[in-house]
Amino acid sequence: MKQLFFLGTLFIHLLSFAQQKEVTITIDPIAENIYMLTGQGGNIGIFKNEKGLFIIDDQFARLSEKILTNLKTISDQPVTMVINTHFHGDHTGGNENMSNQGATIFAQKNVRTRMQNRQREKGNISTASLPVITFDEGLQLYFDNENIQAFHVHNAHTDGDALIYFATGNVLHMGDTFFNGRYPYIDLNSGGSIQGYIKASEKALLLINKDTKIIPGHGPLATKKDLEIFLSMLKEITSKIQKEIDAGKSEEEVTNNESLTSSYDSKGFGSGFINPERMRKTIYLSLTK
Ligand SMILES: [Zn+2]
Repeated sequence: MKQLFFLGTLFIHLLSFAQQKEVTITIDPIAENIYMLTGQGGNIGIFKNEKGLFIIDDQFARLSEKILTNLKTISDQPVTMVINTHFHGDHTGGNENMSNQGATIFAQKNVRTRMQNRQREKGNISTASLPVITFDEGLQLYFDNENIQAFHVHNAHTDGDALIYFATGNVLHMGDTFFNGRYPYIDLNSGGSIQGYIKASEKALLLINKDTKIIPGHGPLATKKDLEIFLSMLKEITSKIQKEIDAGKSEEEVTNNESLTSSYDSKGFGSGFINPERMRKTIYLSLTK
């Protein structure tokens, strides 16, 4: 029995080791000097410029070495700037490592506050991981052949989301205000809301055209069409849930009512991190807050 237990534990250890080892980093060129990196956690945007590498988000700390090694395949230059789209750990986990190798971290000001609060709660203070330059509504960055615009969208996925737009390359990184082809996670406990989430997509659509390449926080590289489908999904489900609320339906009734999301469930939207039930519940809670 003891041996069986040992074998079982060993198996679990080997399994988790294998899972960690399995993370494959892929870098795909999407416009001139602009790339998308996928590994584990939020999609990373990369811009190669005269000052070094500018990256959007940095996944997890344990992947930093691997990410930096892979970045060497596109440039000998170090990562000099990191901008965080929001505070979640799968987008900011590598900050400390990036900062230690010389990068300056930028983010909307609420990102810094939330990261600081979280560190205090955990009793694990890491100043190097915090954004050094913060902005309120937006920020403009100028390079030889590119202008980058970072702008804050209010109370969408969190209260510190920024969308990053490359004007010359015509690339938009939307952070977790866009989960391509999937139901999104909306962090209601960190200032997120369905109304703000819908507005973020609407704002993005005003900025882009049919040729824009969109890097979503999660999911494959997207086009304007994909974002339009995503926005229709959000609006349709939200209006259905609002009708239920107006009719006096309870949280439980809405959460269990499969018909509210079924037309998008069948298209695979619920097969990601957020299942249909959780989507209905989140929208209900956001609308009744
Ligand atoms: Zn997130």
